[in-house]
Amino acid sequence: MKTKMTEAIEKQINLAIEQMLNSKNIYIVSHVQPDGDNLGSILSLGQALKSKNLDVFMLKSDEIPNDFMFLPGIEYMMDYDGLGYVDVLIVLDSGDENRIGKNKEILGKANLVINIDHHISNTYFGDINIVDKDASSTGELVFEIIKSMGIEISKEIGTCLYTAISSDTGSFMYDNTSARTHEIAAELLKSNIDKSYININLYQNRSLERTKLFITALNSLELYYNDKVAIVAITQELLEKSNATMEDTEGIVSFLREISPVEVAIILKEFHGENIKVSMRSKKYVDVAKISSYFSGGGHVRAAGFTVNSTVGKIKASLLEQLKDYI
Ligand code: AMP
Ligand code: MN
Ligand code: MN
Repeated sequence: MKTKMTEAIEKQINLAIEQMLNSKNIYIVSHVQPDGDNLGSILSLGQALKSKNLDVFMLKSDEIPNDFMFLPGIEYMMDYDGLGYVDVLIVLDSGDENRIGKNKEILGKANLVINIDHHISNTYFGDINIVDKDASSTGELVFEIIKSMGIEISKEIGTCLYTAISSDTGSFMYDNTSARTHEIAAELLKSNIDKSYININLYQNRSLERTKLFITALNSLELYYNDKVAIVAITQELLEKSNATMEDTEGIVSFLREISPVEVAIILKEFHGENIKVSMRSKKYVDVAKISSYFSGGGHVRAAGFTVNSTVGKIKASLLEQLKDYI
């Protein structure tokens, strides 16, 4: 159980702080399909650095889901114009360079790349790498950085950090939640955040369209290997029928894992042009990061994913074949 950072990580944090404080400008970039940990980390770090009068830009690599429009500072998220000089580039919550999608080109332009992440599959692509697979979330690492800089946790920063950590720990329930996670959460609660406002926005805000999609999707639930594997496929046809968007599939895969006999929950999302995004969650013993890496994806032991050019039927068959050895 994680209680504190290792000395090696603390050293990387100090190096990063020195570089940030002496930077000409700082760009912080999101990953594709940004989640609560990613956006909460960007906005807390970005606003903390701005409070030090640094020249900070926060870049989106994809559309921002409506779910996170409540985050203070979300209006800072912008597109890179392709021209701006980049001194320090900070990549958050991304296991490898491809996770930042269209903004990958900035990696070659930047004078210095700082990689801050908690994925077991991280490739250490930065000049400075603050990578801790034992951290519950990138938000947890950003908290340590902000504290080390002596920056006060404002209500805005606290709201973003709490969102980041709560998102990636399933509201402090998943295995990655440590004693340190709770200590940080306690400190954030003392920073005068509105916990109820955050929780309602994150967990009690499901739209009617999303609820209807949930019901339709669950009707197509398939179970394999003595009900240990649950699979749901979301096709474009299903989305149209439910008047929903792919964004509305959020939460389905964790719901599947909650079914008693289920060890591995899988959602297959069919985007246009045979582009299938797969999300996997496990409960007790299956390492889904390992399975995802077989398909050139990545993630964590209990939550991982990958994207392939295939059909729902084909990918389902090869997943079931892979799972045979794990289940
Ligand atoms: P998701 O299922 O999209 O919520 O992602 C679960 C975890 O797997 C996250 O921590 C992601 O960073 C990781 N992940 C998802 N898709 C990919 C991918 N294509 N490549 C690497 N990691 C991924
Ligand atoms: Mn993420
Ligand atoms: Mn994360």
